[in-house]
Amino acid sequence: MPEGHTIHRLAGLHRELFAGRALAVSSPQGRFAAGAGLVDGRRLRDTEAYGKHLFHHYEGDLSVHVHLGLYGKFSDGPPPVPAPVGQVRMRVVGELHWLDLRGPTACEVFDPVQAQALRDRLGADPLRDDADPGPSGAKIRSSTKSIFALLLDQSIVAGCGLIYANEVLFRAGLAPTTPGRLIGPEQWDELWADLRALMKEGVARGRIDTVHTQHTPEAMQRAPRVDRHGGEVYVYRRPGQACLVCGTAVARGPLAGRNLYWCPKCQPAG
Ligand SMILES: [Zn+2]
Repeated sequence: MPEGHTIHRLAGLHRELFAGRALAVSSPQGRFAAGAGLVDGRRLRDTEAYGKHLFHHYEGDLSVHVHLGLYGKFSDGPPPVPAPVGQVRMRVVGELHWLDLRGPTACEVFDPVQAQALRDRLGADPLRDDADPGPSGAKIRSSTKSIFALLLDQSIVAGCGLIYANEVLFRAGLAPTTPGRLIGPEQWDELWADLRALMKEGVARGRIDTVHTQHTPEAMQRAPRVDRHGGEVYVYRRPGQACLVCGTAVARGPLAGRNLYWCPKCQPAG
């Protein structure tokens, strides 16, 4: 599933391509036909990303809310607009560009109350400048669940996915099973700051890189990582491989129903 940095990149791209323009919105596949009809012909005011959620805000206080889920994907291009291929849920056409959305978990029209209700359900998003990490830290400190599960809980940290959760815990030297109640305010501030820096870099680069300068392929004179997620990381999808810091084999195990990766030596439990 795309993590928050991908959604923030999409919001930026869609703003650049379409904001300020009147757009033709349709649903070639038909499943979003009624919603598309509500915003068709309106001017796009702005776009917004919140965690893994994307909004297209149209004039007249209507917003299209998109959650890509596991299979959702956007494609776009300059004119001419091609004949729809496959199940195009939403098609957006402006003067200079078109955009297709296929396979999202959610594609629906919200009024401002519904949009705010969604924002209120979400935790702080490290990529938003208006984010307040304080309440998230308080929720974490009041929980006996693992910090790994808490970081993945979108009502606590919006936009953090599996790769960032695994990697930020490695960088902090924290065992992923550490209960939230043991994460003090200072430790939370550090985790939040690191997550924010990593995710901002993800937005800028369009891929997730989490290794410090001294652990890049160039610095270590090693081959770059080969993985469809790209990016240089410490533990994510590196089970059995040597930890880039200490050489110990990276471990893998399920936790909270998700794939957890960690270095048993750099992230000792207890
Ligand atoms: Zn290690």
